[in-house]
Amino acid sequence: MKNVMKTEFSALAENEAFARATAASFIMPLDPTVEELTEVKTAVSEAVSNSIIHGYGGCEDKASERVIMECAVFENGKVVITIEDEGVGIEDVEKAREPLFSTGDSEERSGMGFTVMESFMDKVKVKSEKGKGTTVILTKYLDVVSDL
Ligand code: ATP
Ligand code: MG
Repeated sequence: MKNVMKTEFSALAENEAFARATAASFIMPLDPTVEELTEVKTAVSEAVSNSIIHGYGGCEDKASERVIMECAVFENGKVVITIEDEGVGIEDVEKAREPLFSTGDSEERSGMGFTVMESFMDKVKVKSEKGKGTTVILTKYLDVVSDL
């Protein structure tokens, strides 16, 4: 069995907390461990903050720009979370995924977001087109017995 959820929110920094808490509460029926929950929340935060900071970084009115988050959970413990923006897109995805690579302010950004997502999730897929936007698909297999 599959359970799905979709939410759309303004590209504002305060919504990073909303997104991570929403994803965390949605996966609760799978009875994740505290560690699994922290890992999912951290990966969601990284993807959402990238959409807000990089995708819509140059936008004047970030409140009108949207980040879309979709979650699907399966009874075998599989969790799939998709974070999508219609921002500037990534020119070279392979390069962007390299540890320490960042186009952001070097004092604030460490270029470790994708590396963190990869280490906490089982699979990270990035689809991006310059000028069109970016979609990050995070997959994790929770070591749980389903209540669904
Ligand atoms: P950190 O996450 O450590 O604060 P960072 O955001 O620069 O730093 P990553 O999250 O690994 O590092 O992202 C690497 C680079 O990929 C970014 O600097 C940016 O150029 C690009 N990028 C990532 N996500 C997006 C996005 N949604 N839209 C446009 N560019 C992105
Ligand atoms: Mg980042």
